Amino acid sequence: MGIVVHKYGGSSVADTNKISNVAQRIVESHKEGFQVVAVVSAMGKTTDDLINLANSLNTDPNPREMDLLMSTGEIVSCSLVSMAVASLGFKSIALTGEQAGVRTDQLHTKARINKMVPERINKELGQGKIVIVAGFQGVNENNEVTTLGRGASDLSAVALAIGLKADRCEIYTDVEGIFDADPNIVKKAKLLPYIGFEEMLEMANYGAKMQPRSIELAAAFNMPIVVKSSFKEGKGTLIGGENTMENDNRVNAVTVDKNVAKVTILSVPDKPGVAVSIFKPLSEKGISVDTIVQNAGSNNITDLTFTVARSDLNSTIEIIKDLIKTIGATGYETNSNLVKISVIGTGMQNNPGYATSMFGALADSSVNIELITTSEIRITCIIDENQIETAANALHSAFGLSK
Ligand code: ASP
Ligand code: MG
Repeated sequence: MGIVVHKYGGSSVADTNKISNVAQRIVESHKEGFQVVAVVSAMGKTTDDLINLANSLNTDPNPREMDLLMSTGEIVSCSLVSMAVASLGFKSIALTGEQAGVRTDQLHTKARINKMVPERINKELGQGKIVIVAGFQGVNENNEVTTLGRGASDLSAVALAIGLKADRCEIYTDVEGIFDADPNIVKKAKLLPYIGFEEMLEMANYGAKMQPRSIELAAAFNMPIVVKSSFKEGKGTLIGGENTMENDNRVNAVTVDKNVAKVTILSVPDKPGVAVSIFKPLSEKGISVDTIVQNAGSNNITDLTFTVARSDLNSTIEIIKDLIKTIGATGYETNSNLVKISVIGTGMQNNPGYATSMFGALADSSVNIELITTSEIRITCIIDENQIETAANALHSAFGLSK
């Protein structure tokens, strides 16, 4: 049998009991005949704690030191998991990202993986060992420790699975898999046995709790991912790796993203160059702007509306305040009590009926739509935060997901 990569998130290794449980799972897979590589995140909220520690001493710590500090969280957990596996009587070794061959670019705290050098892991597997790898970290050309961005242990796991030519990547978490809506909001939400890469990527970008970069990477190399519970038995959700039925003519999921703030710049002069002078300073500050709507201008003025993550609203306002004077706009308005609600499904490609059903279902529930955006397989409405539950349940049943 081949290689399988497991990944355990922070909540699955939060204490020693949970670590013992993880060690059991790893050993079971080894006993089935797989060569097992397990990638682990830092225990519980360790990464947040490390960041808070750093900020209590220095509000603008050097990113190199930040990476060195944050990387320790995963080193602790991989060492402990390896010890727990060994205590069950199996040969095991813990490796840092560097030792595991994760090579990255220079960008501290959000490095990208350039390549995987699999020799060391292959050698250890060849000696019959179970290999436990510290997720979320790698090393750059200058031998500096880097981290890959928050939540990026998923990405480490997918990259390792690809580099090692594993059969699949299994992501173990505190839920049973991927649901067709958030079960905390929609009581009738159901576990999806299968979801395609494309749909999963839209879901991850529009509210589902998976790291979008890991899905992109898995899709690019066609590496199937299985998401399942580290606590309960169950098949979980298979992402990619199988052909979805073409014209599987439906919406497959409803997602909610609560991290939305809307900014409107009022009475912007309608002339060339205005959009670039607004969005360039924002992108230079690393603020990513999402939905952009420029209303039809009249009398050579127009309003310009866009959304940003709520956490970026304050820095956006700082920039906009100065900007409106230079571009000659009259002012701005913001609203951070909004959410994005999306319906996603490859079935809606070239099928305008889906938009009508979505708007109709929201109207029937008296939900006002503030903004609308679409992709080929997604329709997103921005609505008031207080209407999340009404809207999510209405859409879940309007598209037949409740059955
Ligand atoms: N420990 C890191 C974080 O909290 C990486 C991860 O959990 O995937 O962001
Ligand atoms: Mg995590």
